[in-house]
Amino acid sequence: MRPPMPVWHLSFSKHFSRAQTLIAVLASMIVATIACLSSAAGPPQTGLADRHGGGERRPVTQPRELADDDPGSPGQPPGNGPLGSTAPTAPQLPAARPGTGGADVLARIPAFPPAPPAVKIELPQGPTAAWLSRIPTTQKVAFITIDDGWTKQPEAISLIRAAHVPVTLFLTMNAIRSDPGYFKELQAAGAVIEAHTITHADLRGKSPDFQRREICGSADQLSAIYGRRPVLFRPPFGNKDPMTLQVTHECGMRAAFFWKETVDKGVVRFQEGHTVLPGDIILMHFRPAFADDFLAALQAIHDAGLTPALLEDYIP
Ligand SMILES: [Zn+2]
Repeated sequence: MRPPMPVWHLSFSKHFSRAQTLIAVLASMIVATIACLSSAAGPPQTGLADRHGGGERRPVTQPRELADDDPGSPGQPPGNGPLGSTAPTAPQLPAARPGTGGADVLARIPAFPPAPPAVKIELPQGPTAAWLSRIPTTQKVAFITIDDGWTKQPEAISLIRAAHVPVTLFLTMNAIRSDPGYFKELQAAGAVIEAHTITHADLRGKSPDFQRREICGSADQLSAIYGRRPVLFRPPFGNKDPMTLQVTHECGMRAAFFWKETVDKGVVRFQEGHTVLPGDIILMHFRPAFADDFLAALQAIHDAGLTPALLEDYIP
């Protein structure tokens, strides 16, 4: 027969348990605070699913990382959480003040060698869209993607135009509705417009009809406004489930994307490692610090000896 548990043990267990609870609560408060500060407060996501490249869909339920995609509510300009870096933040450019505009900003655009002729990748055949966070290529290229569209600074247009680099825009209908013409100017500057839902809803676990409305609906509307039907999709917060990829395919889009790096407030954060690798897809947003973010993305690509290339050129 076991002797009754000594009082000290009970007491210790109790305290230990309380300490654990306290740590857990503090940890969740810290995480929540970071998310709120970034104003992105996206739902937790399974960014780890993509940590090992290639976009294999390995369902990961934990540990969760902060979402790095804007929640995108109207009137509440986006912010993506400092996301998904499992690696510590890598210092990049010292952030210049946003809006320092003009020649000062343009002088910070790195010079790149020309991008090599794109070699299209092979996508798996099947009833679902591919899921990628990196283009499997050894070519010395990386891809800049810019999401949402809440903040519309004229300077962003001149900067993209001056940089002469290709960018892919994953636009949310509710974010762009106030001024679709802004993105027509970007389109004229070479940006390619792709889909990112209508309301910026978290699609994971939603019904097929709900996902269809968001995914096909945004492709339809973007097509009507910009004269080109999107072929690529990014789910808000990078959150998806098998239905998301199936519906993306049904809606006529070939691939959906996560990312390998995020940029916010002039700082590049890496999902893995400390440098941009060939084929990496970099995520940034239309935010007040657009110039700093865009320049930091360019500088990280330049530091890695790579050249920005157009994502669409690599998708068959
Ligand atoms: Zn987004």
